[in-house]
Amino acid sequence: MIKEIYGKRDLTYNDWHRTLPRFCDAIDIDMLEVCNNPRCRLPLAITELAQDVGQNNKNYFIIKRIADLLNIPAYVVLYKTSDSSDGVKYISGFRIKRVDGKIPEQTFTNYTVLAWNLILQDIHSNCKHPNPMY
Ligand SMILES: [Zn+2]
Repeated sequence: MIKEIYGKRDLTYNDWHRTLPRFCDAIDIDMLEVCNNPRCRLPLAITELAQDVGQNNKNYFIIKRIADLLNIPAYVVLYKTSDSSDGVKYISGFRIKRVDGKIPEQTFTNYTVLAWNLILQDIHSNCKHPNPMY
């Protein structure tokens, strides 16, 4: 796995985009799960991410719109972090709600790291590759 260098993302384009007229809205998409098959690469799920600081809300309107258009699941994922004894931050748990479809979940459910790992693996294992693939 390739690890991003934290705090080093260039935001010049974002800053430039903010100079456009107010009606030119845009958002950053936090995470788009995509099929690993190089000839497929279909979007499989979209997630809005935030560190869990005890909040009970996170806006998901736009990821829900995208997910419903693509007919894929959308999740709001709050992750709890902890520090290991050697000072390395790691994810210690999740609160997640699925927000695509007609009736988005209203409350978060606690997930272990393993449980969310398995859900994502299941999503990736069940891609309906288009036929023919590109
Ligand atoms: Zn695929």
